[in-house]
Amino acid sequence: MTAGTESGDPGVPIVCDACETTSRVPLDAVADAIERHNEQLHNGDDIATVDPDIADQIADLVATDLGLLE
Ligand SMILES: [Zn+2]
Repeated sequence: MTAGTESGDPGVPIVCDACETTSRVPLDAVADAIERHNEQLHNGDDIATVDPDIADQIADLVATDLGLLE
């Protein structure tokens, strides 16, 4: 039995005010999931987003992970 990823990545909550939904997706799929949701459901409007409560933490994680702080 392998349980390699349990400590690192519980998933990132994405919230959409228009749909009143929250869904969790893996950190490396967040940008994709948001883009796809907004394109398919909101004509590309930027409505769904990472939960603001943890957006700062995620920004840190993502920036560290992917080097997006530039
Ligand atoms: Zn939506």
